[in-house]
Amino acid sequence: MNVTRATFNEVMVPNYMPADIIPVRGEGSRIWDQQGREYLDFACGIAVTGLGHCHPKLVAALTEQAGKLWHLSNVMTNEPALRLAQKLVDATFADRVFFCNSGGEANEAAFKLARRYGNSTRPGKNEIISFYNAFHGRTLFTVSVGGQAKYTQGFEPIPAGITHLPFNDLDALKSAISDNTCAVVIEPVQGEGGILPATQAFIEGARKLCDQHNALLIFDEVQTGVGRSGHLYAYQAYGVQPDVLTSAKGLGGGFPIGAMLCTKKAADVLAFGTHGSTYGGNPLACAVAEAVLDLVNEPSTLAGVQARAQLVRDGLDSIGRRYGIFEPARGLGLLIGAPLAPAWKGRAKEIVNAGLRHGVWTLVAGPDVLRIAPSLIISEADIAEGLRRLEAGIAELAALPKAAGG
Ligand SMILES: *Cc1c(COP(=O)(O)O)cnc(C)c1O
Repeated sequence: MNVTRATFNEVMVPNYMPADIIPVRGEGSRIWDQQGREYLDFACGIAVTGLGHCHPKLVAALTEQAGKLWHLSNVMTNEPALRLAQKLVDATFADRVFFCNSGGEANEAAFKLARRYGNSTRPGKNEIISFYNAFHGRTLFTVSVGGQAKYTQGFEPIPAGITHLPFNDLDALKSAISDNTCAVVIEPVQGEGGILPATQAFIEGARKLCDQHNALLIFDEVQTGVGRSGHLYAYQAYGVQPDVLTSAKGLGGGFPIGAMLCTKKAADVLAFGTHGSTYGGNPLACAVAEAVLDLVNEPSTLAGVQARAQLVRDGLDSIGRRYGIFEPARGLGLLIGAPLAPAWKGRAKEIVNAGLRHGVWTLVAGPDVLRIAPSLIISEADIAEGLRRLEAGIAELAALPKAAGG
């Protein structure tokens, strides 16, 4: 059957607006479309394919498990899930793990856990504090905890008991938190909100305030986790441990899986029958994620992230100066944002499209920030080539008369 981009509009719900190209194959940091055109991947499917496309060890883990056992449900446990959980516990603050299939589901589990924790502690302890511009997923609970009104509009009534505060504003948190707070939810780097890192003082202060008020500190590491920060998880860069951490995106290297990691004290709230998932922790996903974790949680992989990040940031800053297009890059590790200079505000999507025309795939993080999230093991040569292609796209845009009203 012949399918094209036009087919999308005829058979898919219109909630997405995919690019004009349809990739059909990937290898390392390159993908090829239906016409055989090649693109350098600076996006990783939104910070997911952290080991590139079709890494031989991941292909081996998936195909080996595919020939053994696909699914049991949680009526029975399975070896890949137990091994992956053991490795996550060994490598992090966590004592316990819950598996699911996406970041939104991992956060849904974390927020439900927080509510049960609060409600079992004292009456009225059910308030969740989160931050403007945060993104935590697309379920009704997670869009409600998220800090962007556009994602809840039209879906009312939304769950109650959620307070939003300005990000990185410790005084606001100090004033708002109380013994009625059951959890404070933080992305160590706001991803969808514009690649905005939390300050050290904010993270440390939030930890102290949560301790004072017996509230759970939840880190949403769906985007920052699994090596992207140059640490296995970004909390390790801050040296501040949460009570609950959510992981997804990079965890499966492209195979859907999510996980909620937590302390034993938090885990005990989710007694038998309180929460669940049919597919969560299925052998295929866990076998792949185990291989991902083995490869990413190597000192050489993690150390390599910082060196690559420096190359990308230097390249972006130099393009930014030459064309007056970017302010200095920001982010953590290989989660990098290039904020647009005032004259270019609102044009991030145009820059992504110009890059695609020249054979490099980048992302936006809102209308005013170009986001770069390449593979953690991308070669220096591929970084250089991707930056060259991005610059070619930007040079083309800069030469064009600015679109009317654009
Ligand atoms: C992508 C993302 C999510 C949602 O993950 P899904 O797998 O799309 O449900 C949640 N939180 C953060 C920080 C994310 O970047």
